Amino acid sequence: MSEAPARGNDGTASTPDRGQLEAVLALQDLDVRLQQLRHRRDHLPEREAVAKVDADLSALRAEQAALEAERARLAGERDAFDGEAAAAGARVAAIEARLRSGAAGSFRDQEAMAAEIASLSRRRRELEDHELEVMEQLEPIELAFAALSARRSALDADREAAAAALSSAATAVAAELASAEAERPPLADALEADLRRTYDALAARLGGVAVARVVHGTCEGCRLSLSAAELDQLRHGGSGRLRCEQCGRILVALG
Ligand SMILES: [Zn+2]
Repeated sequence: MSEAPARGNDGTASTPDRGQLEAVLALQDLDVRLQQLRHRRDHLPEREAVAKVDADLSALRAEQAALEAERARLAGERDAFDGEAAAAGARVAAIEARLRSGAAGSFRDQEAMAAEIASLSRRRRELEDHELEVMEQLEPIELAFAALSARRSALDADREAAAAALSSAATAVAAELASAEAERPPLADALEADLRRTYDALAARLGGVAVARVVHGTCEGCRLSLSAAELDQLRHGGSGRLRCEQCGRILVALG
């Protein structure tokens, strides 16, 4: 695709009139605004806020899961000690019942049963002590668990608020973008084919800014001063055709 005249008056393209220059500048202003809106849409701070809460929530869930595993482990230990202690207690009660019933025969048998009761009772007390120790270990875990649950509720609320803020920000920028996009076709269609082709090609190459106003002898695209010869050409029909020697943009002097 030809990009129209490189620079200077080579006689191959007509010089755009003032209306065309104003139209291409208006199109460029709109395109810059569209670019900014798309950038805003793609980098909403509200989206980062949601991601931040999500990260906090997932860290919290991991903490909760670890704590839950520890709680389950200790609860299992507690129940095992409790079960063994209860079994020892039941065994003692059974032996005592036998003793009371007189079913135990000899003195030797009775002595052996008394010894077993003593041993079982000792074992039962040990088991109950272990159970208490485990229950003491469970206490701070239950407290930490309650604290985590409270933090989780707060974070869930934060997540909901952040998601609502994101949704309304996204809706607002989408509406603004849609209305700016609707402005584009009539502006672009108003340009003559040559100028539009040149504009499109240059805008794609130069980050969306194809046309530079000349203000006080300076190209507004690259901020560099133009030569006396360039300024002279601009004054004599070069506006809209001449390209900046430094940045390649179409120079427009509207005085
Ligand atoms: Zn320039």
